[in-house]
Amino acid sequence: MNRNIVIGNAWPYANSSLHLGHVAGLISGDILARYFRLTGDNVMFVSGSDCHGTPITERARKEGKNPKEIAEFYDSEFRNLFKRFNFSYDLFSSTDTDYHKEKVKILFRKLYDNGYIYEKIEPQCFCEKCNKFLADREIILKCPECGEETKGDQCDNCLHVPTAKELVNGTCIVCGTKTVQKNNKILYLNLPIFQNKIEEHTEKVEKEWRINARNETHKYLKQGLVERAVTRDINWGVEIPVEGYEDKRMYVWIDAVLGYLTDTMKVCEDRGLNWEDFWKEGHNNKIYMCHGKDNIVFHSIILNALLLGQEENYHLVDTIVSTEYLNYNDQKFSKSKKIGITALEALDLYPVDSLRYHLVSNGPEKKDTNFTPEDFVATHNGELLNKFGNLVNRTLKFKGLEKIEAAEIDRDIKEKIEHTYDEVGNSIEKLEFREAVSKIIDLVEIANKYYDTQEPWKQKKENEIEFKNTIFTCSNIIANLSNLFEPIMPGTCQKIREFLDLSEPSWKPTYLAKEIDLKDKNIEPLFERLKLE
Ligand SMILES: [Zn+2]
Ligand SMILES: [Zn+2]
Repeated sequence: MNRNIVIGNAWPYANSSLHLGHVAGLISGDILARYFRLTGDNVMFVSGSDCHGTPITERARKEGKNPKEIAEFYDSEFRNLFKRFNFSYDLFSSTDTDYHKEKVKILFRKLYDNGYIYEKIEPQCFCEKCNKFLADREIILKCPECGEETKGDQCDNCLHVPTAKELVNGTCIVCGTKTVQKNNKILYLNLPIFQNKIEEHTEKVEKEWRINARNETHKYLKQGLVERAVTRDINWGVEIPVEGYEDKRMYVWIDAVLGYLTDTMKVCEDRGLNWEDFWKEGHNNKIYMCHGKDNIVFHSIILNALLLGQEENYHLVDTIVSTEYLNYNDQKFSKSKKIGITALEALDLYPVDSLRYHLVSNGPEKKDTNFTPEDFVATHNGELLNKFGNLVNRTLKFKGLEKIEAAEIDRDIKEKIEHTYDEVGNSIEKLEFREAVSKIIDLVEIANKYYDTQEPWKQKKENEIEFKNTIFTCSNIIANLSNLFEPIMPGTCQKIREFLDLSEPSWKPTYLAKEIDLKDKNIEPLFERLKLE
């Protein structure tokens, strides 16, 4: 029976452009989505722009705009970016839609009615000069763990999340004034009450996770989960559906992670499906969450707590797909320091499928990796142009070849093709995408070696039958490469399918059934040689 699979890509903050490192993390979701669709599963691949919270209001303040303008600008940039990168989202929405806000309010209210959200009156950091309570992110302090100066929500350097006690020593990000403590009314989420259930669930599913996700989640569980404020004093965000909280808004971590659920509801509503098939227990479903290593516990702990608190038999997150960082010339991408290029700039410079391929084959799966233009060009010219492109070109553009005629496929090659599906599929399901790519390239190399050994340019003169067998065998390898590479380079695979009159891709060995006329086809090279600019 086909499974129902949710794949959630982290919702990017709509306060600055995305760089290649972001794409290197998020492309995991697209690989999984495309792969599972090919194997016949029902896929729900969702994401959206995270439009609320202080990163946006901060940027708006700096630029003299309102938060909505900032959020809409970056939201539309993200949509353009993911479209150009060929991400196959079922829905990429935004947290600023009425649909999302209404659904989130219902889910929030349920947590409140079930007693998992409760009120506390507490002293909180207040800036007397700005006359407002400060969000954690609006406080600057010296990180108690590593000593670097950091914002109060999370240390950029060591990922430590400062406690309320530690925040007391901070200053206001806007005016630099030392904060004072003042009583405030706050709603809290009772995270500790979910500790045991989340521990049990983690133990059950973590074997599939990468090591960073296991370590980070265990670190939090070992420290013991602590209650978390869910309301903040800000006027930009989702309203609180509780009386007396009209002037406050939800923290983005609660509203954004519920976006996976509200997106699914929206898609199912539009397509006449039942969203519960994807999110409730007992529907043969599986949930994947893809993001960078700084985002792990929001998915392995917080989202699961929010689902448990509904008391409605939700299926919890199964698989955390967390990447390390991609650096640029050995430094962190940074727009302000002009290090690296944005993802859109990269698309203006380089072919999209070569970027996708390189970001996967050089992906930061188990450790940080590095992007350099030199490496990228070497990958493009070496693996894509010289190996893959060359195989396609010298087979389909063989001098004087007008059609591919049905002939006999080499038996060893056929076996190798069949074996490659199992191997690559296995690697993708183990989240080892680099390994998957290298196994497909193995098949390309075997094909090129076969071609060289057969010497079709000699066979053409000496033995017409053997020549036809060679061309037919190579064409069938190419047909199967258009399936195998589909999750990585969908645009290129589409071109191959047009060359070979193939319809839809699928994750099973595919053999050419009829004669293929090449005469009237405009078979262009798949890749052009790139020079370092
Ligand atoms: Zn730190
Ligand atoms: Zn201030």
